[in-house]
Amino acid sequence: PRILVQPQAVSRIATLLFLAIMDRPEVALGCAAVAISGVALLASLQSFPTIVDRPEVVLGCAAVAISGVALFASMRPSSSLQDALLLQLMQDSREGRKPRASEPEDRPTQDEESNSVALLSGFTMQQAREHAQQSASLAKARTPTEVLLDLQRGNARFWMGKAQRPEKSAFERRALIMQQYPSVAVLGCSDSRVPVEIVFDQGLGDLFVVRVAGNGLDVSTSASLQFAIHHLKVKVVVVMGHEACGAIKAAQLDEATIKKEPADLAKALLGIKAGLDEKRLKCIHDPRSQDREAVASNVENQVEQLAKDPALMDLVNKDQLSIVGAFYEISSGIVDFFHH
Ligand SMILES: [Zn+2]
Repeated sequence: PRILVQPQAVSRIATLLFLAIMDRPEVALGCAAVAISGVALLASLQSFPTIVDRPEVVLGCAAVAISGVALFASMRPSSSLQDALLLQLMQDSREGRKPRASEPEDRPTQDEESNSVALLSGFTMQQAREHAQQSASLAKARTPTEVLLDLQRGNARFWMGKAQRPEKSAFERRALIMQQYPSVAVLGCSDSRVPVEIVFDQGLGDLFVVRVAGNGLDVSTSASLQFAIHHLKVKVVVVMGHEACGAIKAAQLDEATIKKEPADLAKALLGIKAGLDEKRLKCIHDPRSQDREAVASNVENQVEQLAKDPALMDLVNKDQLSIVGAFYEISSGIVDFFHH
């Protein structure tokens, strides 16, 4: 698309250049060196008006020009902020261009449009497609044990304060348009303190997450997990409960109190209640242990429900799938996996 000169576009280009320089301090140093050499050359030209007289000045001019070109070439945008600015620039240029009735066929097709965006970021859609296929086959080659270890490593990074917050590059994001190939499905709680991707330090396309209050199984949560297992071929299914889960606490109230809640909420809570061994839970007097035991037994129930599905157990027996329960401790950030 034609880029029209607009004040906001100029300021975006300036920001882009500034970001490129900030991104790479050596480029800033190079810019300063080029500027200083230029000024020095100009100064020397003032006292000697004819540059032919002094071959070293001609050499200097050539050096400044070459350094300038090299610097410009090295300032290729890399950060996601720069990608966003570039895309914004392209949109500006499209909005700034008034559509004319005489040129309807000039409008780019959606494919051409995404191709031009891809080329701007330094790759073609074909490359993105190939990258997606490669990553998908790498993901398929991993064993459930490897995938689980990777999750544990991610959680360790998180609770040690060393999270990498893996965010995909523009190239990888575009590759993800073609297909998704997560290796893990997680049934977790909707609780705002348990964001699954953050807790496991995973990025876009890594986890297939189903979150409902109390991480229970019903028609839609089972269906989502079945899709992840049979179609996305995830290697690990994690059912994850957490410390201080409000749904689990509410499920331990007496039935009459629960039934005062709105119908669907009451139904969900009674479903969780049915799976809790409340007589045994009442024997635990330490509140923290009682809380953990209740959450853990709810997780065990969901794992047992899943294990009743012969199709899933077939995959487990072929070592193509692991189903594990887990407990997330809000206070420490640590996820404990239960072993069966
Ligand atoms: Zn919860």
